[in-house]
Amino acid sequence: MSAIPHNPEFRDGVMRCVRCSICVPHCPSYAVYRNEADSPRGRVQLLRALMEGRIEADANFELHMDRCLGCRACEDVCPSKVPWGKLLTETREELLPTPHARTRKRVTELFLQRVVVRPDTLRLLARLLAIIQFLRLDRLARWVVRPFSKTTARRIDLLPRVAGKPFEPSEIEPPETPTVAFHSGCIMGATLGDVQRAAIRVLEQQRHAPVVPPTQHCCGALHQHAGLLDDARILARDTIAAFEDSGVVPICTTAAGCSLAMKEYGRLLADDREWAERAATFSTRVRDLSELVGANVDTPTEKIAVQEACHHWNVQQLRGRGLALLHNLGADAVALPFQCCGAAGMWSAEHPEEAWQLLQPTLDSIEKSGCTVAAISNPGCLFHIRAGLRSRKSKVRALHLAEVLAPPAPDEE
Ligand code: SF4
Ligand code: SF4
Repeated sequence: MSAIPHNPEFRDGVMRCVRCSICVPHCPSYAVYRNEADSPRGRVQLLRALMEGRIEADANFELHMDRCLGCRACEDVCPSKVPWGKLLTETREELLPTPHARTRKRVTELFLQRVVVRPDTLRLLARLLAIIQFLRLDRLARWVVRPFSKTTARRIDLLPRVAGKPFEPSEIEPPETPTVAFHSGCIMGATLGDVQRAAIRVLEQQRHAPVVPPTQHCCGALHQHAGLLDDARILARDTIAAFEDSGVVPICTTAAGCSLAMKEYGRLLADDREWAERAATFSTRVRDLSELVGANVDTPTEKIAVQEACHHWNVQQLRGRGLALLHNLGADAVALPFQCCGAAGMWSAEHPEEAWQLLQPTLDSIEKSGCTVAAISNPGCLFHIRAGLRSRKSKVRALHLAEVLAPPAPDEE
């Protein structure tokens, strides 16, 4: 790494840390690695040592930055308001060109830059994956590779299970006067098409008239997380432009990671004269689905355990929103103890064994709850928890909150 970011806000953010350690017990990477350098306090001190020229940005430094899940639990509890999300993404951006970047990181970058941003390619891949899963070729591949690489076998376990055909914006007839604009997402739209259709039914049951802007694609949340900030800015501008035609109605998302990234476009594009104001306006419009649902929904009949995504719990102030909504509807619902499930965007693909380890307490809580359904509001967590429940042959079904709330599809009635 040539240097750490030079902007004064970065330096100020690092210097705010008073080493109080309040953040340490909240950190999932510390829970897994049990190493001070893999705690938030340790990472901030590494940045400080780097700024002061006491250490080099070598492979060891990179490793500890790489092991952060970006869950931002530390930021949420920090009394000194250390802006760890900003420090992490800007540091990762600086780290990208170094020779220390390992192959898996390069693969992640290529996937984000060449696949995730192309909806047609993503949909094609999702269809291919659905066929592979239907023929159980993934299980065969897992069986073949397991004796040679447990990590690769774990990656196969964690592959998203495709649910329904990919969601296409053209499926929804544009209303004359839209009251909400729907974010169809990239991986979410390609692999969880049925969840997106369920979300549209929920919105319609709320007497909303949803429009799905056809030119939208990836919002750049995963790129931000990986420190690919130039790519993230391009995708943010594309997303803002795609949604401006729908007027100033709320923008509904079904992915906690995407809603957080889009709510932070104002900050991402703050130095861009042409886009800063448009980004700030856009961010004020972004809502999670649970923020747009009132009482107009049938009461779910199963006992539901509600899992909170880090990006709802930590930063977005949506803590307890899903549970309160279900209680208001009269549903029998309980909250799972809050803990990071280990999905964290592309982190689980890069660190599958550690992600699996972090997942186990969440699975234990789901099983102990006695519920028949786990309600989840983020696609990464949903894939991850579904994989874990499958591996335990659990009878509990992991569903997106949209699926829990939605009336049956016309062909299911
Ligand atoms: S809580 Fe904040 S101030 Fe305290 S050690 Fe963690 S980052 Fe530093
Ligand atoms: S973002 Fe999460 S994993 Fe990273 S240092 Fe903070 S608490 Fe730990």
